[in-house]
Amino acid sequence: MLNALDSKIPKVLVVDHNEMMCRRAVGFLNAAGFWAESVLNAKSALRYIETKSVDVVLLDVDMPVIDGYEACQRIRASEKGASLPIMMLTKRDDAAAIDMAFDAGATDFATKPVNWPVLPHRLRNMLRTSEVVEALDKSRSSLDAAQRITGLGSWEYNMVSGELIWSDNLYRIIGLEPQSCDSTLSLFMKYVVDKDRSTVYKWLSSDSVEPGKMLKQQILTEDGEERYVRIQLKNELDGDGMVVRKWGVVHDVTEQYQAEKKIHLLAYYDSLTRLPNRVLFCERLARDIAIARRTPKEIAVLFLDLDNFKRVNDSLGHAYGDLLLQEVGERLQSCAQEINDAYQLEEGPCTVARMGGDEFTVLLTGLYDRSEVIKFATAITNELSDVYVLDGNDCHTSSSIGISYYPEHGDSVDELLKAADIAMYEAKKRGKGCYQTYSLAMDANSIRRYKMEELLRAAIDNDELVLHYQPQLNLETGKLESVEALVRWNSAELGFVSPGDFIPLAEDTGLIVPIGEWVLRAACFQAVEWIATGVPLERIAVNISVLEFIRPDFLSIVGEIVAESGLDPLRLELEITESVLVDDTSSAVDTLRALKGMGFQLSIDDFGTGFSSLSQLKHFPIDRLKIDQSFVQGMLENVHDSAIVRAVLAMADSMGLSAIAEGVETSEQLEFLYSHECDEAQGYFLSRPVPGAAISALFAEFNQVEIRNTGTGD
Ligand code: C2E
Ligand code: CA
Ligand code: CA
Repeated sequence: MLNALDSKIPKVLVVDHNEMMCRRAVGFLNAAGFWAESVLNAKSALRYIETKSVDVVLLDVDMPVIDGYEACQRIRASEKGASLPIMMLTKRDDAAAIDMAFDAGATDFATKPVNWPVLPHRLRNMLRTSEVVEALDKSRSSLDAAQRITGLGSWEYNMVSGELIWSDNLYRIIGLEPQSCDSTLSLFMKYVVDKDRSTVYKWLSSDSVEPGKMLKQQILTEDGEERYVRIQLKNELDGDGMVVRKWGVVHDVTEQYQAEKKIHLLAYYDSLTRLPNRVLFCERLARDIAIARRTPKEIAVLFLDLDNFKRVNDSLGHAYGDLLLQEVGERLQSCAQEINDAYQLEEGPCTVARMGGDEFTVLLTGLYDRSEVIKFATAITNELSDVYVLDGNDCHTSSSIGISYYPEHGDSVDELLKAADIAMYEAKKRGKGCYQTYSLAMDANSIRRYKMEELLRAAIDNDELVLHYQPQLNLETGKLESVEALVRWNSAELGFVSPGDFIPLAEDTGLIVPIGEWVLRAACFQAVEWIATGVPLERIAVNISVLEFIRPDFLSIVGEIVAESGLDPLRLELEITESVLVDDTSSAVDTLRALKGMGFQLSIDDFGTGFSSLSQLKHFPIDRLKIDQSFVQGMLENVHDSAIVRAVLAMADSMGLSAIAEGVETSEQLEFLYSHECDEAQGYFLSRPVPGAAISALFAEFNQVEIRNTGTGD
């Protein structure tokens, strides 16, 4: 910059009303290496400056009309003249005259008569200074712009003079107007959050900070906004190794920090429940295992699964499912909080996580003993079985919990989770809503279960499912009139698997839906065939799982299958369980009415074991109650059972429902039922469930009728 000045000829504008004076000045300056021109008044000077290029102005104070002071002010006010070096020529050199010149905006002044040999040097000097100022100004403003863009503020501390300088953007970062107040260390400290203040102070004022070291800090700006900054510090040493100057940058990394936090949240937390996710849970468990290896202690892992989540999700929709999961997450978290409060640890012994779906895990580290774990599991079980009010609807769920312990059941994350998972399935098997601690014996069972699921998926395609039929006796006519279809799985690999074992598995995995469709279709086609061959079949009953019943497409699927088979809908009976009636009654009523409207018969299976009250029943369009076999089998010995059977029969009669007793194994039982006017009976005493091929012979023999034998059936 400065060299450029030497390489080009500086242009001087001489402003003086005295023509003689002008000529002299121009001549002298041109001879001294300038490019000079002159004008005779302020107006011409302003025009000249606006239209031509000028590097410096030599301005006489004494001019008529507009004097030099006013001319100087006007030049300063103009766009091009704002930072133009102006040397004023005055007759006086008293303090008042000098003040007036500078007040008007002069850069320098000289007295008249002019000392011509000195003037060129003073002009050059003035030009140089102005170049430097301009360059500094430029670099400062581009530095400030750069600092603004990058969110950087810089500071410089002179240890000798005690002077501390902040860049404009450092003021902005802490929420102040640039250079609006004195920059001091104590002022900066005011914005550092309380807990970190002494660390930061020590760090900044210490002589021995390693160069390039960084501190990440939270600050509270003047407006109370939370921001995150990185402070970097460098020391400048003198020859004796003493710190003479410190300087550094303050980097506003709030956006970056928030982005990192968001990424962390996405990576480590479940977005629905805001609980830690599988990744974070596994990391914490791994960390606790590593610690427990050094300082031995027991760790408990709880694996929790909701018992009927699928049902809520399928029947009420995913939005409700989500609400339920959120509520479960909150309840778990508050149980965990209680433990954490009791142990008074910041990151307590208890971490709750959502593994996905309706599976949650809890990590308990360093509890006094296992009884506390059990107490906790019990507390969760109770808490989660309380009614949920989701968007105004009551909803129930329960949870099954499996528990495993480090080091007894495994010494890795995978082993402990797997053991807890296996224990959870055992808990489910034992009846829902309970917990179970892992034991070695469970392993074999669970392998069987996983294997079974795999095979069951293929069972339909492999033609491994068959239906057996159990006849039902009409006690009034003394004839077999109906059958119940009962599915059987003849697995090529596992052999015969009873429905008691695979139906619950099918329900857990959703396989019940295709299996149920298969059963319905097979039963309808079979019934049509029997009727066509003269079997006096009044009705065929098919079991419907609640998971099928609540599906939105259930009605259309049943309708299609029945239509396809050609079976008269009046001859199809759908057996549902009481649990269908307990929750969410309004849509259950709608579905039942629709089914009734389509002509089907409806019965309540296992009646008496569920929660439905007799009075509740009148709201449902039911045809028949199937008295659960446990009551039938106990009714002759147990007064309680017999009371129930009689009450159900009396009630069914008064409500115009028909009643059928299941599980009739003896003639005495049959006699009792007959004498209490039960309508129908089913059980081993009459016949076990038999393959389809055996039915027509059974009906023929029992009913003493002749039926054409076509040799069809299984
Ligand atoms: P359920 O609907 O209560 O069926 C009656 C069960 O009791 C049948 O067992 C039957 O064989 C058995 N049983 C019949 N009479 C007697 C008796 O006199 N004494 C004794 N002790 N038991 C008797 P099964 O076939 O093992 O079926 C068990 C359960 O599996 C059924 O109970 C039903 O809930 C379910 N299930 C069977 N087939 C299907 C199906 O196609 N779909 C659905 N969703 N569930 C089915
Ligand atoms: Ca049944
Ligand atoms: Ca039953």
